[in-house]
Amino acid sequence: MMIANVIVDVPAIPINQTFDYRIPERFQEVLQPGMRVIVPFGPRKVMGFVTGKTSKSSYDKLKDIADVLDLTPVLTSELLDLGRWLAEDTLSLYITAFQAMLPQVLKANYKKELERLSEAPLPEELESLFAGRDFVPYVEIETSGVHYNQVQKAIQDGDVTVHYLVKSRVTRKLVTYIKPSRDVHLLEEAYRDLSNRAKKQKELLAYFIERPDETELSALLKKFGTTRSAVNSLIDKQLLETSQKEIYRNPYDDQAFEQTEALKLTEQQELAIEPIKQDIRENHHNVFLVHGVTGSGKTEIYLQAIQDVIAKGQEAIVLVPEISLTPQMVRRFKGRFGSSVAVMHSALSNGEKYDEWRRIHQKEVQVVVGARSAIFAPFENIGIIIIDEEHENSYKQEDQPRYHARDVAIRRGQNHQCPVILGSATPSLESYARAQKGVYKLSTLSKRTNDKAMPHVEIVDMRNELHAGNRSMFSRSLKEKVEQCLSRGEQTVLLLNRRGYSTFVMCRECGHVKECPHCDIALTFHKNSNQLKCHYCAYEEPMPTYCPSCSSDLIRFFGTGTQRIEEALTKLIPEARVLRMDVDTTRRKGAHEKLLNQFANKEADILLGTQMIAKGLDFENVTLVGVLTADSMLHLPDFRSAEKTFQLLTQVSGRAGRHDLPGEVIVQTYTPEHYSIELASQYDYEKFYQNEMRVRKKFQYPPFVFLALITVSHQNHVTAAQTAQRIAKGLWNHIQTETVVLGPTPSPIPRIKDRYRYQCMVKYKQEPNLRASIQQVIRQFDDQVRKDDLQITVDMQPYQLI
Ligand code: ADP
Ligand code: ZN
Ligand code: ZN
Repeated sequence: MMIANVIVDVPAIPINQTFDYRIPERFQEVLQPGMRVIVPFGPRKVMGFVTGKTSKSSYDKLKDIADVLDLTPVLTSELLDLGRWLAEDTLSLYITAFQAMLPQVLKANYKKELERLSEAPLPEELESLFAGRDFVPYVEIETSGVHYNQVQKAIQDGDVTVHYLVKSRVTRKLVTYIKPSRDVHLLEEAYRDLSNRAKKQKELLAYFIERPDETELSALLKKFGTTRSAVNSLIDKQLLETSQKEIYRNPYDDQAFEQTEALKLTEQQELAIEPIKQDIRENHHNVFLVHGVTGSGKTEIYLQAIQDVIAKGQEAIVLVPEISLTPQMVRRFKGRFGSSVAVMHSALSNGEKYDEWRRIHQKEVQVVVGARSAIFAPFENIGIIIIDEEHENSYKQEDQPRYHARDVAIRRGQNHQCPVILGSATPSLESYARAQKGVYKLSTLSKRTNDKAMPHVEIVDMRNELHAGNRSMFSRSLKEKVEQCLSRGEQTVLLLNRRGYSTFVMCRECGHVKECPHCDIALTFHKNSNQLKCHYCAYEEPMPTYCPSCSSDLIRFFGTGTQRIEEALTKLIPEARVLRMDVDTTRRKGAHEKLLNQFANKEADILLGTQMIAKGLDFENVTLVGVLTADSMLHLPDFRSAEKTFQLLTQVSGRAGRHDLPGEVIVQTYTPEHYSIELASQYDYEKFYQNEMRVRKKFQYPPFVFLALITVSHQNHVTAAQTAQRIAKGLWNHIQTETVVLGPTPSPIPRIKDRYRYQCMVKYKQEPNLRASIQQVIRQFDDQVRKDDLQITVDMQPYQLI
């Protein structure tokens, strides 16, 4: 007897295990581990992943596999293994881990419907619901008000039955082609017989007489400026016929990329690439940290290493942060490797993502460039994995499974015995510390390839501005520099480091701040719609005219959103053309690219934006970069705030003067003496690292310890607090002496969507059984989680602390 082990798509804790199903005769040949199947589960049918096959089971009453969804496994045996590890490492469910590794469209879609089985009359309401149909979608019943008892009785009587449908959402794009269905001489005959009034039909026939190959329908219609009806008439006359072909939605036109050749490497690049090439040659796994200033040619190193990998017949995965998946970055990879490159990022439609994934799955490409989830590319012979800007937080997934792409990369690097390259101008402290200890191999690129110096950074103390009577957001120095830049016909990038600085609404009379009624967070004012919006839930309300607390009309918005800065800027320098780039102006698909193109075409003098403008952009004509509020992140309750500030300032400075024109940078701050600001202005990573490590050591933060964050939420304040308390207590019983459990404390945002939130933080150095202990402690609450809507989340590598 053939039996399959299946992980079923039922995301609940007690079901985090495989179930055994019998493999019916007809599937025995085809079924392989890694395929998706449909299986009965209780009264329903659900999707599942086959993880293995056996001949024995400890259960005797096995159900049959109902259907097999794939012709070839969607998860390779390596990915099945990786998924199990991922789930265990992040304390997630196996099913969640498997689904995270696949494109959205391969997730199942569940539907329920009623089928009428007999002609026997049904109760009136049911009869009118079926209205002559054999099938009724279950949602119609739920919304119709028909009593559930009636349905149940009809089921018991055998008059109707319930079906649970599992649909795979896969959509393939089909394109229609037209070709002649007769010999040429028959077409010629028909041509002569056609009346001269059927002008378009004659043109079409003439075309196919010349060219009897098939032609894409839409191209044909365009060429002859005609509609489908002319073609249809010829099809009706059996002169032409249609065929359909499946195509990939390739979001990029590969022909449009200019081919590039490998550059002759600089001495520093040579030194950095040699050990990587050696590992590629010898199928050896090492993690390399390439620490290179912006413009030092890291990307060229990636390209040439990949070249070797392709030459060996192997495959490459390149991760870049979502935000730097700009057309510029894509062009560099497509320019070098053409159509061997698949690109995966969130701006693609689900169908496009699926098609790119299939090009990888079917081995039609050798390289994938993508955001975080591209680390799961189903390649089977990986020769290199590259993570650019490795310090970026976007490599950490913030919901289940809460994984870090760096860890997955290293795991896959070990599986495939290939090098993993981490590149950054400002490596994360964790990675740099590992390189210092020799766990990673460090290469340093200290020089730009064009030997240009890094732009000079001027720090402006905003307190002095205030003393001098300048109360605006723009220092005198910045205003002057922007004007000079403008008069030279050059461009400026202005960064508003907005995190922690949104436009909230406060009453000047009584100090009342408008907060979201469901989340403990101030509402944000949106000028265009004159609405107050919550950034954590969908709540919004109109901007009030009177204070709801004291009825004063002195209710105003405060803080500095990009919109306000834009207004102030246009007042200050009216002749400047300003482009604003923030979440509001880039929400629509393609908006981001459009704004960048406008700026590249010099349709604006100033690009004003949030963090998203700091990365990867490369404009020849930008000679001035201004940072409006360098310290706005520094005071957030996050131990990484100094590191993030240093990274951001270094990144944004790298945007100026990348080409022939020299650049300069102005950093406005209220705390010029802070080491992260001072050292960023000197481009002194090494010193920053030393300094920051001392701070981390003193307060016992990573990389000196590991963290685990447990968050509890519930609609009832007391339940949330008590559960967190019990979890903390439970953990103390399990841990070693040098480990600490902090809390419970209310989360930094104590309420979101009407749920109260408490957290416990575990700080540990060595705690081999921590995962098992946490699981054991939170297991006690399984019942409450299921029945009482209690939520407990565990993050084994927390990045979002606020
Ligand atoms: P990074 O990724 O470190 O910021 P890039 O790889 O983007 O650096 O290189 C910066 C610029 O230098 C690019 O315009 C690139 O084409 C160019 N470049 C890189 N390597 C070389 C080289 N060996 N010789 C000449 N130009 C180079
Ligand atoms: Zn809210
Ligand atoms: Zn008031």
